[in-house]
Amino acid sequence: QQYLDAIVAHDPRYNSYITVTADAALAQARAADQARQNGNGGLLCGVPIAHKDIFCTEGVRTSCASKMLDNFIAPYNATVVSKMAQAGTVTLGKTNMDEFAMGSSNETSFYGKVHNPWNTDCVPGGSSGGSAAAIAAGLAPAATGTDTGGSIRQPAALCGLTGIKPTYGRVSRYGMIAFASSLDQAGPMAKTAEDNALLLQAMAGFDPLDSTSMQLAVPDFVGNLNKDLKGLKIGVPKEYFSEGLDPAIGAAVEAALDEYRKLGAEIKAISLPHTHLAVPCYYIIAPAEASANLSRFDGVRYGYRCENPKDLDDLYTRTRAEGFGAEVKRRILIGTYALSSGFYDAYYRKAQQIRRLIKQDFDAAFKEVDMIAGPTTPNPAFALGEKVSDPLTMYLEDIYTIAVNLAGLPAISLPVGFTQGKPIGLQLIGRDFDEASLLAAAHQYQ
Ligand code: GLN
Repeated sequence: QQYLDAIVAHDPRYNSYITVTADAALAQARAADQARQNGNGGLLCGVPIAHKDIFCTEGVRTSCASKMLDNFIAPYNATVVSKMAQAGTVTLGKTNMDEFAMGSSNETSFYGKVHNPWNTDCVPGGSSGGSAAAIAAGLAPAATGTDTGGSIRQPAALCGLTGIKPTYGRVSRYGMIAFASSLDQAGPMAKTAEDNALLLQAMAGFDPLDSTSMQLAVPDFVGNLNKDLKGLKIGVPKEYFSEGLDPAIGAAVEAALDEYRKLGAEIKAISLPHTHLAVPCYYIIAPAEASANLSRFDGVRYGYRCENPKDLDDLYTRTRAEGFGAEVKRRILIGTYALSSGFYDAYYRKAQQIRRLIKQDFDAAFKEVDMIAGPTTPNPAFALGEKVSDPLTMYLEDIYTIAVNLAGLPAISLPVGFTQGKPIGLQLIGRDFDEASLLAAAHQYQ
């Protein structure tokens, strides 16, 4: 009730929620309380959370922040949603996001932009900007997010939170509306690494409904939080300290590395030579996959349908012209072009080859070090409107996060300072399926 009241009182300033499920939340809270009294409450019994509006929630609108799905009531729960419910969470509602998770500023939502609680003239980051703003503003203690190229880590960094993108295959994608299927991963966002560990514990695990979900036991993330960091080798890629980096962020990252030295870690300079190719490579692969995934929105099966179509072509064309926003259309056009015959080899195949080189950079680095550290973002939260009309500058926002998705690795962002009253994030990248070490490293810093 306290969170629901806070949402009514304060969310008009932030616009972090698309849908608030107040009655259901109170009923779930009562059920959780009953379960607790009966001694069978789950790991997160009674903990209020918010779900990014990309996760299907049975009986509740699941819009992906698009006009295309404004009228879509999901008929089933995403695996992440049902796993969290089994752990005892109470769903406060669905959070705002960039349309179909395409963006870095939460300005492409059909439901309007989200404001950063630290400075309401600034963006909260994206695409999980509503989840980040809701937590930072005290309108939820934790939330789910998804990360295709940085969408958990970048908003976590810009809003002073901790958020982890798990290894590809650690968390089920079933019921999570697809953007770029080979890159998409769900993960938690909260204030601390300890909260992230609890949330990931509940959400991770094999799911027969997702063919890319890995059949691996979920480690005890919480029990591992205080694992000794002595002798941990942390690599710092020289490419992550290039000219585009805000000096205040560089300094905060250096100071955080000093803390890790004090905790017994060894800091080593490394190189990830194909770093500069990550953004161009991603902006072929992600739009290519998106153009295929979004072909299902045709006005026939679900979602928006244009009025009075003349014929089938008119139905498809006008439904998509009217239902999708500008950024989504841009991605569909790029992706369709990159996949078309005659251009496939020059763009899509080349991007896949570069993706392999990027993965090999990480493989080589992890022979020398256990973890990689650097800034999460090149700059702190920027002004609303500042980058909207310049997609290229917007795309560069994810310069440090995108390679991680291309390689499928886990990575966490944790707050390590402020510049001009705005939070700064440190990114730690781990070996495949080694979320436990990332959580432990982040926890012991905090
Ligand atoms: N900002 C990146 C994009 O616009 C990443 C988004 C995401 O991770 N969902 O595609």
